[in-house]
Amino acid sequence: MTGLEILGSTIDTDLVIFDKDGTLIDFEYYWGQRMRLCGQRLVQRVGGDTTLAADLFTSLGYDPATGITDGAGPLATATMKKIYTVATVVLYQHGVGWDRAEEFVRTAFVACASAMPTIELVRALGQVQMLFESLVWAGIRVAVITSDDHSTATETLALMGVDDLVGAVAGGDDGFAMKPSPDAFVHVCARLQVMPSRTMMVGDTVADLVMAQRAGAGVKVGVLSGVSTAAELAPYADFVIPSIDAIHITRT
Ligand SMILES: [Mg+2]
Repeated sequence: MTGLEILGSTIDTDLVIFDKDGTLIDFEYYWGQRMRLCGQRLVQRVGGDTTLAADLFTSLGYDPATGITDGAGPLATATMKKIYTVATVVLYQHGVGWDRAEEFVRTAFVACASAMPTIELVRALGQVQMLFESLVWAGIRVAVITSDDHSTATETLALMGVDDLVGAVAGGDDGFAMKPSPDAFVHVCARLQVMPSRTMMVGDTVADLVMAQRAGAGVKVGVLSGVSTAAELAPYADFVIPSIDAIHITRT
């Protein structure tokens, strides 16, 4: 017999759905480097000053000085499309006409932020490949639901060597209502023909866990490897663990 075990409890599940940023890959490392670069590029293009840079990063929910991302902010939770709108609004507030602001964001920010991930930006938050292999070996399906764009997410999974182990990916640009709406979760369960009640969700934000709750997920697991604290996640989680490395496949 094989079983999935978390903090000494055995979990009976057919599908584990993971969030990506802050759960599988180091969010600060990836988006921190990328946002700093793309934000600076945009400010340069506009000919803006440090006030514009500060307002831009504050509005995105990111502090470039400390590298800290606000877990409840746009960068942590919103789709890329909404993040681009936030950047456009900030330029408008700094006196750039809306049309020109959109153009600046499209040419300087979008092109930078939507570039495909590269191996040096992707730092796995634990033994992702080993965990996915052991889940699949135990007959448990694996899926990923992310606010990031579908193609970027797929490429990131490929860079980690796990794309072949993932049965379904739902991205922020796939047309589902964003987390905590249960839409993407319900879609993934239907696609893999697994009842939501037989599914376990693993994520680093309250939005991940509430999405799972609304979809009727069997088990909800919060991870502390991302942008949220144990106190924030605990009310919505059956388990709160340091990272995905606390999920084990046991043979009995
Ligand atoms: Mg996340």
